[in-house]
Amino acid sequence: MTQPIHIIGGGMAGSEAAWQAAQLGVPVVLHEMRPHVATFAHQTEGLAELVCSNSFRSDDDESNAVGLLHWEMRQAGGLIMEMGDAHALPAGGALAVDRHAFSDAVTRRLSEHPLITIERGEIAGLPPEDWTSVIVATGPLTSPALAEAVLSLTGEDSLAFFDAIAPIVYAESVDLSKAWFQSRYDKGETEEDRTAYLNCPMDRAQYEAFIDALLAAEKTEFHDWERDTPYFEGCLPIEVMAERGRETLRWGPLKPVGLTNPHDPSVKPHAIVQLRRDNALGTLYNIVGFQTKMKYGAQTSVFQMIPGLENASFARLGGIHRNTFLNSPRLLDARMRLKARPSLRFAGQVTGVEGYVESAAMGLLAGRLAAAERLGREPDLPPRTTAIGALLHHITGGAEAATFQPMNVNFGLFPPLGEGPKGRRGKKDRARAYTERAKTDWNHWISAFGLGQMVSAG
Ligand SMILES: Cc1cc2nc3c(=O)[nH]c(=O)nc-3n(C[C@H](O)[C@H](O)[C@H](O)COP(=O)(O)OP(=O)(O)OC[C@H]3O[C@@H](n4cnc5c(N)ncnc54)[C@H](O)[C@@H]3O)c2cc1C
Repeated sequence: MTQPIHIIGGGMAGSEAAWQAAQLGVPVVLHEMRPHVATFAHQTEGLAELVCSNSFRSDDDESNAVGLLHWEMRQAGGLIMEMGDAHALPAGGALAVDRHAFSDAVTRRLSEHPLITIERGEIAGLPPEDWTSVIVATGPLTSPALAEAVLSLTGEDSLAFFDAIAPIVYAESVDLSKAWFQSRYDKGETEEDRTAYLNCPMDRAQYEAFIDALLAAEKTEFHDWERDTPYFEGCLPIEVMAERGRETLRWGPLKPVGLTNPHDPSVKPHAIVQLRRDNALGTLYNIVGFQTKMKYGAQTSVFQMIPGLENASFARLGGIHRNTFLNSPRLLDARMRLKARPSLRFAGQVTGVEGYVESAAMGLLAGRLAAAERLGREPDLPPRTTAIGALLHHITGGAEAATFQPMNVNFGLFPPLGEGPKGRRGKKDRARAYTERAKTDWNHWISAFGLGQMVSAG
């Protein structure tokens, strides 16, 4: 009998990983700590519990990246999508689900699978050495005992407990007649290093108006449990810095030194907002130091006051909340295995993807890769042109390790299309071109995966 794969955590990622591995004929032991150990957010003992909204977001697989992720998971026989579809609620173009019926159905299908054993109990340290294939899918609320054990294996700064998200902008939406590429004091060995930042200049009036808008914007409040979480001082929201004094930002992330505006070299900007490259492709830039608790609507209007960002579109907006995640670009190999201990594979939100769907998708891939390994195969990884391949590539190397923050799926993670429709009008056509390319490539990958028949169960 094939040795089992041990999966720790029966959330979105762990449930999908267990299903995929078992469907490929490999036995699984799924360890879930609830109901013996609780998290502050989960309310039930059900597997794949949705802790907050009941939405899987857009179901548009022709022009939306998360809709494409739905499509890829359906093509791969994903349990989370099958049960989501079975328990869908009316929600316009989105896929919303009846959370209790959905979680009950996932729990039942996994419990009834002949190759899956569910064990309730916390794994409160590193798994025993004789578990030779493990998937850790313990999510943003990984139990402290396990988090500490992972820290001891990987080092101090390998695990973040706060998700201090600076907004991320699509590079193509920045107005380069106002912004320019330059690193402060032209630092760097190569031309690429010396031009690693995009800079947006502000005059005094623009800066003062920006500070007023920051102070006036609507903010979300911290939850009680967030107030107790450490490292808050290290990632102060930009509006809190502004509250400490109107000049604070000019002495901090917006300092106007070491940079010359080539569009107007004789005028020294009063303040400069810097955007740092966020992926190897150079399609995404994060606004440095702009983690924020402003509400989403307020963020867009405040950030579009920045010269050069008037028409910016955002791959993600900023935020700060509790979230345990690995520095995956540094710690994981291309197959999501911990370099320091390759018998441990990670999946889900703990790898630095964000969202129910993204987490389930990484579970799907981890389950398949672990099963293939157990069966003595090493299949190709999904191409970067697919939504799952793009996410995988981002977390295992595409993202900058120094600034790594959790990421939703978006077309900025995909290799660019080359020549094609540009501008706002062309946006829909570009999206369609991304999804068409992804679907062709995903179908090839799935059919080449080559592990024989899926066992029929459930
Ligand atoms: C408060 C909050 C609100 C959120 N709201 C949304 C939202 O509205 N929409 C959205 O898309 N995403 C949301 N997220 C993100 C969401 O958690 C993830 O998208 C998704 O649930 C992550 O899936 P996962 O499988 O990685 O983790 P989870 O679904 O959290 O599953 C991890 C599982 O591991 C178990 N576990 C933890 N430690 C151990 C251990 N040591 N031993 C055994 N079991 C363990 C936990 O009990 C849990 O069941 C939210 C997250 C939080 C914390």
